[in-house]
Amino acid sequence: MRRSLIMGNWKMNGSLQEGQQLASALAAGLGDVQQEVAVCVPFIYLSEISKVLAGSAIALGAQNVADQASGAYTGEISAAMLADIGIKYALVGHSERRSYYGDTDQSVANRFVQAIKQNVIPVLCVGETLAEREGNKTFQVIDEQLDTVIATAGIEAFSKAVIAYEPVWAIGTGKTASDEQAQEVHHYIRQRIAGVHPEIAEKLQILYGGSVKPDNAKALFAMPDIDGGLVGGASLDANGFLQICHSV
Ligand code: PEP
Repeated sequence: MRRSLIMGNWKMNGSLQEGQQLASALAAGLGDVQQEVAVCVPFIYLSEISKVLAGSAIALGAQNVADQASGAYTGEISAAMLADIGIKYALVGHSERRSYYGDTDQSVANRFVQAIKQNVIPVLCVGETLAEREGNKTFQVIDEQLDTVIATAGIEAFSKAVIAYEPVWAIGTGKTASDEQAQEVHHYIRQRIAGVHPEIAEKLQILYGGSVKPDNAKALFAMPDIDGGLVGGASLDANGFLQICHSV
């Protein structure tokens, strides 16, 4: 049985004080839960938010990680630096990084490898654009995004990784994939991994992301291959995010 994981992505929002208030409300309101809960906060606030979350069941994630180990890469944050301050997860290949900052399947794969080397759990984001879905290319895009990482990192690395299926057309748009649409792609991803390594596929947590809200979370999380959510906008509201956490 896979454990569910609910992960918030604050993106580039809020001040330090707002982040501290949000984290503190989450820590106070979560209570006893079976599922894992984490929040991906801006790099600069990771250390301060970790003080607020200390002693709570909520883990911390970064929203990106460098594709190199160390050196002359001005402005980058390495996986070793994240590990140094106890960060558990790092998003890699979020669609906003792919579309606005030029992340390619290969650079995403390199980030994934760097995270794995430092025992930071990479959360590999994959998903198609609206044009790709309408052009019946969803599975082809997923294949390309996954296969580059499998070829670069090796399938064993997926025993220490998470995948997030995030259809680009559903991120921040208010359009959620239907439960069946999301399940179809989650099942496809699991089968693709199973084709290489069935045991890893069975244990792999695959999260759904794309306008998850308190009112649609329960039905999505009830799908057999959906093991939780990557939640953007709705993770900025403590009550809403806690409701989503309790929808598993
Ligand atoms: C995200 O940031 O990964 C995301 C899914 O955002 P939203 O929930 O706002 O669509």
